[in-house]
Amino acid sequence: MSPKEITKLDITNEVFKEPFEVIRQIASNLEDMKYTKVIQTFVMEDRRLNLSLEREGSSYFKGKVVWIGNKKDDSEGTIFCVDNKTELKQINPNPENTEKVILDIKKETIKVSTASKTKCAVCGKNIEIFDEVAGCPLCQSRAHKEHMIDWVRMKHSCPICKKSLNVSSSGVIFID
Ligand SMILES: [Zn+2]
Ligand SMILES: [Zn+2]
Repeated sequence: MSPKEITKLDITNEVFKEPFEVIRQIASNLEDMKYTKVIQTFVMEDRRLNLSLEREGSSYFKGKVVWIGNKKDDSEGTIFCVDNKTELKQINPNPENTEKVILDIKKETIKVSTASKTKCAVCGKNIEIFDEVAGCPLCQSRAHKEHMIDWVRMKHSCPICKKSLNVSSSGVIFID
């Protein structure tokens, strides 16, 4: 009896952690996938890797992965830049908007099951997969990154716990 071939791999934890962990899974399961490392960004050379966003089992966005990189503020997580033929979209899977991420080895596809689980602490709207997220380091509330930065710049406090916060020039929110 041959061992059951693994064709689908759960890479949710790797995606939530950092791009290097994701690349390590891709490289060890899709052996001839070529990429170039540019600082902390992995540029996919032949654009073979697909990415599909799914909700309740059906796909609503598909494209080719252009690069896999880290967040601009160096916080945990992975950003996928995806070409869907009309534009380049940046996808930010995180625990607020993603249920799981599966690497389908046969189809050479990363399947992201999305769900809006969290509302923005500033505007009250859902945090979606295309949104960058920022959080309060004290109470763990979450918001759209731009909204959180604007709020902290204006009010110097968290919209939820009201404790003193500040924001660096690179957009990192810290305890003041
Ligand atoms: Zn918002
Ligand atoms: Zn707070």
